[in-house]
Amino acid sequence: MVKSITDCAVLNNRVKMPWLGFGVFLSPPGDTTYRSVRIALETGYRHIDTAKIYENEEDVGRAIRDSGIPREEIFVTTKVWNSDMRAGTVRQAFDLSRKKLGMDVIDLYLVHWPVPDKYVETYKILEKLYQEGKVRAIGVSNFLVHHLETLLPQVEVVPTVDQVEWHPWLQLPDLYQFSREKKIQLEAWGPLIQGHGAEIPLLHEIGKKYGKSWAQVLIRWDLQREVVTIPKSNTPSRIKENADVFDFELSAEDMAAINALDQNKRVAADPDNFDF
Ligand code: NDP
Repeated sequence: MVKSITDCAVLNNRVKMPWLGFGVFLSPPGDTTYRSVRIALETGYRHIDTAKIYENEEDVGRAIRDSGIPREEIFVTTKVWNSDMRAGTVRQAFDLSRKKLGMDVIDLYLVHWPVPDKYVETYKILEKLYQEGKVRAIGVSNFLVHHLETLLPQVEVVPTVDQVEWHPWLQLPDLYQFSREKKIQLEAWGPLIQGHGAEIPLLHEIGKKYGKSWAQVLIRWDLQREVVTIPKSNTPSRIKENADVFDFELSAEDMAAINALDQNKRVAADPDNFDF
């Protein structure tokens, strides 16, 4: 049971990754991201999720340095973007991310999307970066079971993580089961359904029982499903609210009621059909 903001999932290579992280997709570059990450770190988050395409790696790096918290106490994820896979510039993209973040070693580097005909060769480059000690862990994002089934026989290092859109409307039972069997840690992006969680009456009802918000119920549900979760906010009160999820536990009945909301419904792009 996850009891504190510093509790960690132990990845398949024994690297520890905090169950709760802070996402910065659509977090505007510059002061907004810098301030949000500073507040997140002051609140106690020790895991930040960025990507080259978010264009805010510099702000994340600066906020981490200025926080005064030792670098090794903060888990940082970034990702290689699709255009770099297509252009054959994965190594250059990695070096640029390191430079922007101002970090020699990245904790987790992900293949951002399963770009057809490119994701296996891209992952093989990540394997090399891992073997060279430039990343503590490598993984994938937006990979469905069939992508993993294609990848696994062709590579040596089993991905530590698969970061996918995951929330009550989209629980991907096949991937949930498969990833557990293969010891690939599932990580939820869009855990608040990009804000749509507010539209689900059940989450408000359950929240009332515990004195918690619908967003806190969602984050707690992820943790109890043993899924790493990275809610994003640029609102200081929400950054704190989303971290205040360690003093209650959803009952088995409430977990089951949320589990029953699955309708295979995405609110963002489909890994089998994306045009970017
Ligand atoms: P989330 O599900 O985290 O939702 C973010 C939205 O919810 C924002 O509009 C935010 O508003 C709002 N919000 C946050 N907290 C609360 C709260 N307590 N009450 C009400 N509203 C709230 O969506 P994301 O898409 O940002 O996913 C999280 C992270 O996952 C990203 O930031 C990114 O790091 C990662 N991600 C990865 C992807 C991938 O392809 N690998 C794709 C998408 C995301 P506000 O900021 O205004 O407070």
